[in-house]
Amino acid sequence: MKAAAHVVVEARASSTSAIGSAAILRPMRHGRETEGHLVHILCLDLEGVLVPEIWIEFADRVGIPELRRTTRDEPDYDRLMQGRLERLRQAGLGLPDIERVIATIAPLPGAGDFLAWARERYQVVILSDTFYEFARPLMRQLDWPTLFCHRLEVGADGLLTGYQLRIRDHKRLAVAAFRALKFRTVAAGDSYNDTAMLGEADHGILFSPPDNVAREFPQYPVVRDYATLRDRVADMFAQGGQGT
Ligand SMILES: [Mg+2]
Repeated sequence: MKAAAHVVVEARASSTSAIGSAAILRPMRHGRETEGHLVHILCLDLEGVLVPEIWIEFADRVGIPELRRTTRDEPDYDRLMQGRLERLRQAGLGLPDIERVIATIAPLPGAGDFLAWARERYQVVILSDTFYEFARPLMRQLDWPTLFCHRLEVGADGLLTGYQLRIRDHKRLAVAAFRALKFRTVAAGDSYNDTAMLGEADHGILFSPPDNVAREFPQYPVVRDYATLRDRVADMFAQGGQGT
């Protein structure tokens, strides 16, 4: 095995059949790892930053006010989700009902243009605590940006039986992984579930947060429109390393 690995490592890059993990792990002989080569990743929350709060839209349309509660009101995400699922089961509402509502929701005005601006300049990853099943109609309208989120468990009758977090604390862990990979990161979000991500990033921004979040996390600048967000993101990436 050792001899085979040696062959792979020494293989010429033009031979695609010989490119293996050993070759990938080998430090590059040419090129230098310098600040100038750092690539910028903009990490964005979804709901409240690019699209409306999906649960609030849904609650209003089906007339169940308890479903208006979001991470802005309840910092304990599991408690929030279990309450939502229980209320939906009580009302006999399943995924098809929710999907019908989400299909009528549009991204926030200006979100598409902001995202297009960002994707021309940086790598953009959306880190959200929503679910792929919910987000799909909105991702279509935003031209399918990269989205890291979670999955729902749906019974044969369409009722939601539970949810699967891909990994707990995924927003912060994703940013930490990007930084370990030498990406420079700016993160923007609006809620409690974004603050760990903002803290992990080189720079964090609160976008249109509720007053309680802005008050509890004064270390992050508050931005309330996309034009200002563009300016702050550009400034932060221009500044470089770990800051607020
Ligand atoms: Mg949000």
